[in-house]
Amino acid sequence: MSEPATPTPELPPAYKYRGGGACSCARCRCRGLLWPVLLITLGGLFMVDQFVPRVDFSDLWPVILIVVGVVKLIESTASTEGHRG
Ligand SMILES: [Zn+2]
Repeated sequence: MSEPATPTPELPPAYKYRGGGACSCARCRCRGLLWPVLLITLGGLFMVDQFVPRVDFSDLWPVILIVVGVVKLIESTASTEGHRG
């Protein structure tokens, strides 16, 4: 005689983060910050390039990569609690 099959509990589908348009969770808010922060950084670098004679934009452009990396790092560690989508 075989044992009666025990019903396996319904497992929730593996959670996968997806960006949502109308979501206000921390991660989605961080994601929305990337472009504004990037534009402000770019504007700041051009301003420094314009007003500081010894500094050239070709010396400053890596700052853009650093800023994008920092925003992405913050985004990846931000909570998805309350995420909709
Ligand atoms: Zn979200």
